[in-house]
Amino acid sequence: MVITRYDISRSDLAELLEGEPNYRIDQVWEGLHSQHREPAELTNIPKALRSAIEELLPAALTPVRQVSSDNGKTLKQLWQLGDGHLLESVLMHYRDRSTVCVSSQAGCAMACSFCATGQIGFDRHLTSGEIVEQVVRASQNAKDKRVSNVVFMGMGEPLANFENVWSAVERIHGDLGIGARKITISTVGVIPGIERLTQQDLPVSLAVSLHSANNSIRNQLAPVNRTYPLRKLSEALQSYKRSKNRRISLEWAMMAGVNDTETAGRELAEFARPLNAHVNLIPLNPTPGYDNPGTDHESIAWFQQILESFGVNATIRANRGTDIDAACGQLRAEHRVKISKRRNA
Ligand code: SAH
Repeated sequence: MVITRYDISRSDLAELLEGEPNYRIDQVWEGLHSQHREPAELTNIPKALRSAIEELLPAALTPVRQVSSDNGKTLKQLWQLGDGHLLESVLMHYRDRSTVCVSSQAGCAMACSFCATGQIGFDRHLTSGEIVEQVVRASQNAKDKRVSNVVFMGMGEPLANFENVWSAVERIHGDLGIGARKITISTVGVIPGIERLTQQDLPVSLAVSLHSANNSIRNQLAPVNRTYPLRKLSEALQSYKRSKNRRISLEWAMMAGVNDTETAGRELAEFARPLNAHVNLIPLNPTPGYDNPGTDHESIAWFQQILESFGVNATIRANRGTDIDAACGQLRAEHRVKISKRRNA
């Protein structure tokens, strides 16, 4: 496999540019990382060296499609990797922050029934460089705004690709300068991964895509629940919370008649309260393979009230980019449909 621009460490770079003085290695490293520059833009180094870097360290991501919405506040990008696989990332500007949502795998093996990526299946893990480059590209696209937050809520299950995700986190924190608390790992509940996370020093934020606090319903929505059921998940989250002293958030995509009833609210409250977790209620983005219209806005507000009455804090997440298919994996799924339509025409 080709080593791409952000796959190498600083010492690998020094080895690659053997004979160059230390300050030059620093200029290149900082230019690529803290200043998010392309090799051609490293105007403080000789031209021949710029071309050598361009050649030795190719970019991992080739833009395929870029769609913006919400008056330019949301930018969704579809990228192609060197071996042809596709992945998505989304840049979202808010009043007080700019967040990039990155993918950790091309496709996903978790097979959550309502998720566009789960419906596609698994292609491969992303390398740490392929993850870091998504943040760098977002920073370039953010122009005068600074990317302040990174969320692993794009395609893939980050804790199923632990090694690469963790070295990307260390690079994003150490070299791109984004605080650990501003980096959120979102997991469907891969317990061994949560345990490994508990062992690490950096106190990243943890979000769990719960969607149901009832094992038989959750088994249907997120088949991984059969391996890592709710009680064990809760224990793993307790240890994370205790060791990091961080509040955990629970993600809950609202599906009509599935997880928006009073019973569902009570079950969720029983799961969330001992963890003192915060709940994010997410309007469901309809996907081709899951026949549920999603809970309507009024009923989401009602469900939020129910949770509050059970002593649980919940926010309704504003849905960004629904008009540009910004649900997990949707831009890519749509791209595939277009390609196959073209082929069949
Ligand atoms: N595998 C990880 C991260 C990727 S999914 C995880 O499960 O957390 C990122 C978030 O998008 C998760 O909370 C996921 O449940 C949610 N999601 C997936 N499909 C969705 C859909 N159709 N509508 C709303 N949210 C969805």
